[in-house]
Amino acid sequence: MINLFSDTQTLPSEGMRAAMANADVGDEQRFEDPTTRALEQRVAELLGHEAAVFLPSGTMCNLIAFRLHVRPGGDEVLVGADAHPLKYESGSPGAVVGAIVTLLAGAHGIFDGDAVRAAVRDPTDRYAPRTRLVSVEQPVGNGGGRVWPLELVHDVLAAAAEHDLRTHLDGARLLNATTATGVSAAAFATDFHTAWLDFTKGLGAPIGACLAGSRQLIDEAWRYKQMLGGAMRQSGIAAAGAWYALDHHVTRLAEDHDNARVLAEGLAALAGIEIDLAAVQTNIVVFSVADAAQFVAALERHGVLMGALDATRVRAVTHLDVARVDVEDALEAATAVAGPA
Ligand SMILES: *Cc1c(COP(=O)(O)O)cnc(C)c1O
Repeated sequence: MINLFSDTQTLPSEGMRAAMANADVGDEQRFEDPTTRALEQRVAELLGHEAAVFLPSGTMCNLIAFRLHVRPGGDEVLVGADAHPLKYESGSPGAVVGAIVTLLAGAHGIFDGDAVRAAVRDPTDRYAPRTRLVSVEQPVGNGGGRVWPLELVHDVLAAAAEHDLRTHLDGARLLNATTATGVSAAAFATDFHTAWLDFTKGLGAPIGACLAGSRQLIDEAWRYKQMLGGAMRQSGIAAAGAWYALDHHVTRLAEDHDNARVLAEGLAALAGIEIDLAAVQTNIVVFSVADAAQFVAALERHGVLMGALDATRVRAVTHLDVARVDVEDALEAATAVAGPA
């Protein structure tokens, strides 16, 4: 099977497994795990923040960050269309954080400072929820991996600052955005109150994500890590996989982007497939067909896995377990299913 379903399906390489097996470990909860501590320091620096905390998943990063920013009693969080916390986190903003979530208009999950300004509610109006937090997804997972240009990030941050809002960067695939633009991770992340990146997407590690922020916020994040059962023991085994990924799997992300482009251009030439080539900026390719479920099922019979996003849209994701020859084979399978234009 050629697995283009998601970059979450990458398997730890031999080198990564060896690094994990040989990690220096201790009790994370007592700050005695040296590998985890080193990773947290490294990610804090990478993201331009004072401190960071290692967590089991990106979902927990979003949950804890929202909890840090949102006050009890009806605070509102602003997010882009199809934002991960709204679609895929089991309702945690409502169930655990106690926030209401409002979607900001903007194509492909990307919005601007004026959208924030227009959404912010009058804080003196006791009928209204209090707008508190803006969350930006960089790049947008459900927006076909599209990247927010740095100026737009600054535009949104400026609007948030005008209204004294907190800001959060969901950087699950942040290093794909840095690879695509040449802008550093710190330049994208440093001006947010909290920011995180995931090790289990294109970076290819099996477990973990790191949430960064001020020392004070990260100390407070530890309370929730403990409360939610995210505080581990010999977490260095997992942190070593993440460390290895930062050493070995970042520069190669450019290959995934090249493969995604080859895939997108090949698909564009096929009958019944519509694709916006300009939108393919990272390792995610989203395209439209007449019947997404049928297309995905037919491809699977040809040995290629992709995912149906909805009735007509299909998503394919390139990653470190997909070589150029796999992309070529996947295009052959797609040609067999769709037929040449
Ligand atoms: C995958 C993802 C998450 C959640 O991360 P997990 O490690 O899978 O829990 C959050 N936001 C975005 C944009 C993602 O792609």
